[in-house]
Amino acid sequence: MGTQYDVAIIGLGPAGATLARCLNRSLKVIAIDLKLDENNGFSKPCGGLLAPDGQKALARFNLTLPKKILVDPQIFSVKTIDLDSGLTRYYQRFYINLSRHKFDLWLKSLIPSNVDVYDNSRCSSVEKCDGGYEITFSNNGISQTVTAKYLVGADGANSIVRKTFFPKRKIRSYVAIQQWFNEKNSQPFYSCVFDSKNTDCYSWSISKDGYFIYGGAFPAKNSRERFEDQKRKLIKLGFHFGEPIKTEACMVFRPSSPFDFYCGRDGIFLIGEAAGYISPSSLEGISSAIDSGYILSKALSDKNPNRSYFKCTLKIRLKLYLKILKCPFMYFPPLRYIVMKSKLDSIDVI
Ligand SMILES: Cc1cc2nc3c(=O)[nH]c(=O)nc-3n(C[C@H](O)[C@H](O)[C@H](O)COP(=O)(O)OP(=O)(O)OC[C@H]3O[C@@H](n4cnc5c(N)ncnc54)[C@H](O)[C@@H]3O)c2cc1C
Repeated sequence: MGTQYDVAIIGLGPAGATLARCLNRSLKVIAIDLKLDENNGFSKPCGGLLAPDGQKALARFNLTLPKKILVDPQIFSVKTIDLDSGLTRYYQRFYINLSRHKFDLWLKSLIPSNVDVYDNSRCSSVEKCDGGYEITFSNNGISQTVTAKYLVGADGANSIVRKTFFPKRKIRSYVAIQQWFNEKNSQPFYSCVFDSKNTDCYSWSISKDGYFIYGGAFPAKNSRERFEDQKRKLIKLGFHFGEPIKTEACMVFRPSSPFDFYCGRDGIFLIGEAAGYISPSSLEGISSAIDSGYILSKALSDKNPNRSYFKCTLKIRLKLYLKILKCPFMYFPPLRYIVMKSKLDSIDVI
């Protein structure tokens, strides 16, 4: 049996890395994560757009983004294509176009040295034991077990912590598929595609450093066929794909009711997407991941950290609940048609 820790964090995405950075330094902390470096190990499939809420989350820490994380070009509007009605509209957006993998590695680099970080490591089991939790993980092929008083699931939509301890707490989920192509479109652009025949969620494209990324969130059944069918429809609208360089896929949560959010209990905590903290309208999740990671770092110093974490994340749940209420205007085809037809808030591209 290995070392005894106060806190074990599974996953160092924006949520886990923020928690590890902000925790009280007197705590003995272990963090286990799949990622390794820029070219090796796990990288999260993601659109890599930092929305204003995500920018605000970083601003609260007075953090500034290093230039090496940004990609070319920065884009100021989203081309919204409704394949159901045939309408296309442009809307102004204030996103920062970045390399998601570099962003994650940068957040990870800010973790202080008192935290024992295990890179390139996969947590394979979590169990209850006397006085806390037992965590087994493999690091460079070697299996290790440690114990911790508090266990934090910061391991995203496929959270081993959530699945092990709260299997009944299911959330609506989709398979997100993304493909990378060499950019062949005459001009880089960012698009958002609605296609209710293939998905009741949405798809997106984004140009990044000479690549064209096309992705979407689909119901699990026949997800790949749906993705390919959608691409065929878009080729007819002038999209240039060519041969994919890389295909990536992962699960993505999309909360549909306030009961989908879950903070954990009995010394177990869920943060970021593992807690269901992701926008059901846009799938934007970096801001809530950072915010929930920070809130837990403070709550863990309280007498009753589970209660305190639940109370202090109410604002995140309210924000995401409002997004649930916004969904029909984007995803119910007749309402979307009215919004797009009215040209409300749209830009006339010259
Ligand atoms: C295709 C796609 C596109 C998206 N685009 C955007 C976007 O443009 N902007 C935006 O704001 N949000 C976007 N999101 C949502 C956003 O990616 C997530 O909400 C956000 O990453 C959640 O952060 P997190 O830290 O909770 O989890 P994650 O970022 O998922 O991080 C979890 C980390 O845990 C680690 N991990 C997982 N399992 C284990 C294990 N067993 N052992 C050890 N480590 C483990 C992995 O290394 C992983 O990095 C997108 C999501 C998807 C799927």
